[in-house]
Amino acid sequence: MKIKTHEFIENVDRTSNTWKIIKQMTKNVHQEEAFYVCNLREIIEKHKIWLSKLPRIEPHYAVKCNDDIAILEVLASLGACFDCASKSEISKALSVGINPERIIFANPAKPKSHIQYAADVGVSTMTFDNESELYKIHDLFPNSKLVIRLRIDATDAQCPLGMKFGCDPVKEAPKLLRVAQFLNLNVIGVSFHVGSGCREPEVFKRAIRASREIFNYSSTLGFNFTLLDIGGGYPGGKDSSLTEIANVVNNALDEFFNDLNIRIIAEPGRFYVTTAYTLACNIHSIRKMTDEDSEGNTFETHRMYYINDGVYGSFNCILYDHQAVTPLLLNEDPTKKMVSSSIWGPTCDGLDQIIENMSLPEMEIGDWMVFEDMGAYTLPVASPFNGFPVPKVYYGMTQEDWSVFRSIITVNQDDVLIVEEPLSEEHELYNLKIPSGLPVIIPARKKSI
Ligand code: PLP
Repeated sequence: MKIKTHEFIENVDRTSNTWKIIKQMTKNVHQEEAFYVCNLREIIEKHKIWLSKLPRIEPHYAVKCNDDIAILEVLASLGACFDCASKSEISKALSVGINPERIIFANPAKPKSHIQYAADVGVSTMTFDNESELYKIHDLFPNSKLVIRLRIDATDAQCPLGMKFGCDPVKEAPKLLRVAQFLNLNVIGVSFHVGSGCREPEVFKRAIRASREIFNYSSTLGFNFTLLDIGGGYPGGKDSSLTEIANVVNNALDEFFNDLNIRIIAEPGRFYVTTAYTLACNIHSIRKMTDEDSEGNTFETHRMYYINDGVYGSFNCILYDHQAVTPLLLNEDPTKKMVSSSIWGPTCDGLDQIIENMSLPEMEIGDWMVFEDMGAYTLPVASPFNGFPVPKVYYGMTQEDWSVFRSIITVNQDDVLIVEEPLSEEHELYNLKIPSGLPVIIPARKKSI
């Protein structure tokens, strides 16, 4: 069994506003539940990066990745568009007041009632990758704008998608286009998704080249393609960069699409949200495993830490999204003895394990662990199995940020936590009382703004 060793990780900014908020929240002895701090400024920063690295490509945020209404509101206000996979995602995206034209219904296998809903609300752009979908669309929404989804897989991706979606560009796509032509459907372009968390940037070149071939073929059938959708696959973590993929994409667009004046869109999900969410979990139980030496002396061999979020909650991302999570200790103490440790979620299922074996400094009941980069494919999938609640999200920001976000987001203002800057950990501001008498960070609505 491989044992990971806890490092006193250096690239963690423990002075960031998010950490300040977590430290302050956890000083409250009544704070027992796990909770998130969401930094919406990260979403804006990511949008700036997107626009600077991929200026020709309109991002359609993949709502499935994290459907927090605050994210949709911020992205809508920045002019981004949305990729929705279902009726309820469309309804949520529309609820922030955007034009239905800013949505692509990018699920190639849609229930009939969802297609009907898209028709009713005017979301007309949608993907397909199979013949039966074309017949359904023909019956329910014949005027929709269709986008054929090709299968082009990265050789290495965190979550491959090709086994489920996308038609073969050579063996299937031409035939499907002929069926669409026969049905008099309006196919307007090509899409692909190389796999979520793509680790092979060069795949975008293959995919863009294959897309161009389908553009060429489509014109022989009389279609006039105007849209290329380069899907998702862009990394989102703190240590990742968009640069490499962006270079491949930009060069491939120059090489294969420079002569066409078309609209190019993408469906980034994790790129936008991963770093915005930080999760704080509390150790509520500890089991110490022991052994005896030849003289009968007991010694500790392993420690099992039980925390209040697990694989049925946020850490479902370990199972479904193949994420590797890193526990950071809220209060690092280099003098503590290192112990072989495992970390477990709160439910009664033996599968509910977060870290199998890792050397960690000794911790006590009530200590907190922090997990960064928890914004993608965590909350929308989490369940309150065994009665353990899905962690609540607080939105942490500076006063200056709040002056911007207050006109954009409609979240409960008690969930907005303002950090005053500069701020020392002992800042008195944080010791204000709310009616329950508990010390809390000052809620935004109590500030005079
Ligand atoms: N678009 C579609 C159709 C998807 O299925 C996904 C993810 O599964 C995304 C976009 C988001 O891609 P990513 O997770 O790489 O950000």
